This record gives sequence, C-alpha cells and structure tokens, in this order.
Amino acid sequence: MTYQDLERLDVSRLKGVGPKKAASLAELEIRNLFDLLTHYPRRYIDRTNQATIAELVEGKEASVLVTIKRTTSRRIKGGKVLINSTAFDDSGQIRITFFNQRWRERQLEAGRQAVIYGKVDMYRGQRQMTNPIVDLVGDKTGRIVPVYPQSEKAGLHSWDIAEWVAETLRRSLPPAGRGIVDPLPEYLLDRHDFIRRDAAIAGIHSPESMAEVGSSRRRLVFDELLRLQLALVLRKRAIERTAKGVAHAIDGPLVEQFVAGLPFDLTGAQQRSIDEINQDLARPIPMHRLLQGDVGAGKTLVAVAAMLAAVDGGHQAAMMAPTEVLAEQHYAGISKLLADLTVSDDSNLFAERPLKVELLTNRLGAADRKRILSELLLGTIDIAIGTHSLIQESVMFGSLGVVVIDEQHRFGVEQRAALKEQSYTEETPDVLVMTATPIPRTAAMTVYGDLDVSVLNELPPGRTPITTHWVQAPGMLDEAPTELEASAALEQMWDEVRSEISSGRQVYVVCPLIDESEKLQVASADAIFERLGSVELSDFNVGLLHGRVSAAEKDQTMDLFREGHLDVLVATTVIEVGVDVPNATVMIILDANRFGIAQLHQLRGRVGRGAHMSSCWLVGEATTESGEARLQALVDSTDGFALAEVDLDLRGEGTILGERQKGRNDLKLASLRRDKEAIQHAREAAIELVDADPMLAKNTELAQELELFLDEESAEFLLKG
Ligand code: ADP
Ligand code: MG
Repeated sequence: MTYQDLERLDVSRLKGVGPKKAASLAELEIRNLFDLLTHYPRRYIDRTNQATIAELVEGKEASVLVTIKRTTSRRIKGGKVLINSTAFDDSGQIRITFFNQRWRERQLEAGRQAVIYGKVDMYRGQRQMTNPIVDLVGDKTGRIVPVYPQSEKAGLHSWDIAEWVAETLRRSLPPAGRGIVDPLPEYLLDRHDFIRRDAAIAGIHSPESMAEVGSSRRRLVFDELLRLQLALVLRKRAIERTAKGVAHAIDGPLVEQFVAGLPFDLTGAQQRSIDEINQDLARPIPMHRLLQGDVGAGKTLVAVAAMLAAVDGGHQAAMMAPTEVLAEQHYAGISKLLADLTVSDDSNLFAERPLKVELLTNRLGAADRKRILSELLLGTIDIAIGTHSLIQESVMFGSLGVVVIDEQHRFGVEQRAALKEQSYTEETPDVLVMTATPIPRTAAMTVYGDLDVSVLNELPPGRTPITTHWVQAPGMLDEAPTELEASAALEQMWDEVRSEISSGRQVYVVCPLIDESEKLQVASADAIFERLGSVELSDFNVGLLHGRVSAAEKDQTMDLFREGHLDVLVATTVIEVGVDVPNATVMIILDANRFGIAQLHQLRGRVGRGAHMSSCWLVGEATTESGEARLQALVDSTDGFALAEVDLDLRGEGTILGERQKGRNDLKLASLRRDKEAIQHAREAAIELVDADPMLAKNTELAQELELFLDEESAEFLLKG
C-alpha cells in the first residue's frame, strides 16, 4: 500500500462510519484512510505514570486519570446551566464543574474513563476542577493511550478515532495486509538510523513505550520535511532550467573602482556575500537570493556592488524600497556613493559619461516622469530607485539586469515571472532581496527554500555597542506607580537622559503600541509628548511624530531633529524603519512589553549609528513568562540572529511561516522549532536526490507521493519538465 492507495480509500469503508460520522470526520479534515493515518495523537497518557486524586494539591494545575461516577446538570441564576460531575480513582473523589456546556452531560457518562487537566481548588472540603480539559480515554487496556485531537461537539471521541486507526492498521499491515510502502532510499534509512515507515505509523498510533513514540515521530517528521524540501528544491531547479538569465561580467571596472573608493574595507561578511552574489551573477541562470543582515550591517554596499556589475556589462539595475521615504533616502545615499563613477559611452566624444542614478516615485511631475520613462527604455539611466511601482506600472527598461528589493517584500514566483516583462530583452533579471529581519537558518530553509541565502552576520568595525536596560516600571500614563523602587529606576533613567542631552546627544521616545485604534495611539503619543515637555524633559526641545501628522509636518519635524534643533523626538513606531540620525544615542521604548522581539530590535537599531556610546531603555512590566523572556533577551543580546532564534523558540513558527508557505498544512508533526536538525537533514537529502535525479524518475515512489501534496499544475511543472 502506498499513501496514494490509502488516499483512494474513503473513511466510509470503516466499520461504524456512517454518513453522520463521516461528516464529523470531514470536519477534522479526515476524508480517507491516508488522512486518518496522518491524524496523529495530540499526546499520550501513560497509565502507569499518573497522579492520583489524593496527590492533587490545591491551587496547582495537574492531570489525573479518573472514572466518571455520575453527571448532573441544573439551571442556576441568570439562566446559566451548571454541569456537575463526580469522578473517582482508587485514592478518592473529585468534583468536575462546567458552565453552559450541556454536551458535557453526554460526554461525561457514568463509567467512562477520562484524563482531566486543570487547576485544583477546594469546594466544601472536596477537590474540584472547574472547566478542565477532558480527554476521554475509553476502555483501552494498553499501557500507553494515544489522545487524538477530537471533536466532541461533533460526537467524535478519541477512542473512536483510535478504533478506526487500529482497524486501518490491521488491514494494511502484515499479516493481514501487504504493508505500507517505504519510499525512502535505503541509504537514507541507514544514514539516519530510521525505522521503516509501517513501523513508524504503527508506533505513533499504538506504541508500547514512549521511546517507540520518539523513534516513530523522528521518522515521520523527516518524511514531512523531505517532501517539503523536495518541492522547494525541485521548484528552484525548475526555474533555473527554464528561465534564461543574464551572464554578468563580474570583474568589470565599476565594481572595482567603487570598492577601491570606499573610505573603509569591506567586512569579511560583506566580501563573502559579494562573492556569493557574483557567482550567481556570472551564471546565465537568474539569481534569486536573500541577503539577510542586521540594521547597519552594510547591506546597501553589497546591493550596490551587485547593481554595478549589471551596469558594467551594459545593463541596468533597479532598487525597490517599501516606501517613498525610504526610496528617497536610498536615492540620496546611493547617488552620493556613486557620484564619481563614469560609464563608457560611444555616442560621445570622451567615450564616457557619468553613471546615472534616477529616482522614480509618484511625486514626480508628468514631464519628469515621461523623461525618466523614456531614458529607462533607452538605457541612459543606469540605476533606477523607487517603490514597488517600478515593476508594477508600465515601466520598461532597455535591458534590466539586476533588481534589488529592500525589506522583506513578499516576492514570489509570480512577481519574478512578471519581471521578465519589465525588460526589453529576453532575459529574466537577477533578483536580490534584502531583509533586516533575520530569521533562523533552518526556518529560512523552510520558508525561503527556493532562494539562496547570504548572511551578513558581522557589523562593520568601530560601532559602539548599545547598552540595553530594562526598567521594570508601569507605563507612564498608568496610575501612580505602586512600587517605589520602580519609580526610582525611572528617575535614574530620566537623569541619565538629561545628562546625555546636556552633552549634546539626542533621544527617541517610542510610545506604547496600542492595537485597538490609531486614534488611541495618537492620543497616547500626544499625552506623553505633553507630559515629557512639561515634566521630565521640560528644559529641552521636544518634537512629536505620529501617523496623523501631515507629510509636510512630518518632514519638517524630521529635518528639525536631524539638524539638531530638537533634542527629543517622541514618536509612534513610524520611526521603525529607515531613520538615520547618528547623533541620536538614546532610545526609550515605553510599554516595551507590548512589542515583539523583532520590532524592539529594529527600534533599537535606530541608535548606535555614530561614534558615541548609545543606550536603549525598555520600560515596562512583563506580565507573562514569555514577555519576561523577550525583554531579557533584548538586554542580553544585540545580535539579530540570536534574537531571531529566541523569538522562534518563544513564539513558535506561525508568524514566520505566515502566508508564504502553502505547504504548511502538510507539516502535521514537524515543527520549525523542535526539529531544526531534521530540517537540515531533509534539506541535504532533497538536494542530493534532486541533483542525482532531476525529475525523480528513478525515485518513482517518492515522486508519486510528492504529487499527493502538490497541486496538479505544480506537479506537472516540477516532475514532468
Ligand atoms: P544596512 O542597510 O545593512 O542597514 P547600511 O548599508 O545602510 O546598512 O550601512 C550602515 C552604515 O555603515 C553606512 O553608513 C555605511 O556607510 C557603513 N558601512 C557599511 N559597510 C561598512 C564597512 N565595511 N566599514 C565601515 N562602515 C561601513
Ligand atoms: Mg539600509
């Protein structure tokens, strides 16, 4: 039996699955026997290793295996329904209480066994749990009982599912069945010491021991990750095969002059990234590479080097920023960097002309826009900088060779295909995506597995490190701080801030993040601005920036701050990206506990850009354990990659995977967080397999299985060539 065979068998073939149960199963996305066998237990109950009721301690959370004695319900005040159950084990009795969940009456029928999990309290001298999590375990006799994600409202119990799984296993595994096909090549089984697939499937559903669960899980996790990596690697190779790229001249004079003209040496990481990019550029295959690096790691230079390689070979380059403001900043910075460079030009007497960088934004007048568009087509503009509109509108380049995309724009296969339409030539431009939000390496393999990745994990020398403090104090606008200690710490912070300003430095104050509405956010920024200007920082010039000020006012405030006329800038998160004021050395983030790690790290990156010592103050009280871990992580580290790992550990993978990963639903067991090593192994195996066998023609079982997880079009594209 293969997974495909199992997929063709409907659940209605199972004993006891009529139309009603089938509908309930469909609610759990279980329609066939493949779905059923990959509906894995949520956890396991080890019967020999359970607490007894007598051991439960008041005020503590615990789980206990009990038998239901009776369950009653009655109406109480306010029309609510109270459900009361009495349950017992060998050591005593416990009361279980629910409100307004009438279906519990059916669930907690007398005689049923259940594991209940919740906080223990005392009611009239008896132990009680209110609204516990209930897992019915049925009357299975094994030592280890699997608990399935269940849908009790739909009338499906964990033991129903266990029954059907057992039936399916009985019929498909020997001696009754022919066994489940293992598509992994023998050498991979050996290399990782994996058990066979049928053993793994049996072992995860009805294990004899928890060790067996472990080895089964390890095997099945790898299978999931391998499928995902195979799809990604096949996609990458397919694009490389089908799209024609520009083979750039990588050691042209422009790049050389540019690097030689820099007032500093490239960092090792910059050099390595440029080398990696150059290798891609030289090949006639379109590059699709992600450049990850912390704020200030020097991504711009690397991107400029790539764009110059295009210009060196007579092509053009484009850089896209997420906002007009950032596009303007890039334009100003890059024009300055490239001011002295010239390119060869046969049409003129000196056979050369200045390299031309242009800004294309929506603020351009019609005449300028028309001129720029025609120069882009003619090829007399070498580098165009703008927003997404650079590729979305009817902008046509004479010969677009390299496209740089700043800041984690979602840039998928479709956009890549569209780029080809952007250039008068036949070739697809090379694409470099820059992001300042590092994501952990193994997560990158999973999310960006069809991209190559370069990492700037080294800051240019001479940066003064940022010292980060965490002031455990309530928000400024809360009622009077209750803890004396907290307000003393805040006082100390303002003292240091005042002395920094007195010695000529500048300060950012970031206002609390208020999700509910922009109006509240603005109100709080206003209030903090008022308060600081009249109390803590009354001797200084304080400015205010938030989402409701007009663009003109915003520019004016930024200019005042940049030029040093304002000592303090109170702002909402609008300053998160792109603001660069080297004289600003203090970053204060109020209610810091409301921000995520990545955002705090980005905000902190606004200081530490000049020669002076910088500091960051996180003000806030952690209300949860993970909140505390988040803030402490910021205090402990300024390394974006290390912080990204912490973030992944704390938050799980949901936020990283986001919408990009359509294959997400296929990962039923694997976790980006727990299975880092397996991701690495699966990646390696996928590359080996595909490079040795590009269409998986010799690994037919794997290829067929992969088709289960791909839509028809992708399968056609990836596997049929
Ligand atoms: P990123 O885009 O990664 O945030 P930038 O490219 O804007 O970083 O660089 C930040 C600053 O560091 C710029 O002022 C740049 O001139 C400077 N810089 C970049 N590379 C180096 C280097 N190798 N040595 C010294 N300074 C550098
Ligand atoms: Mg930058």
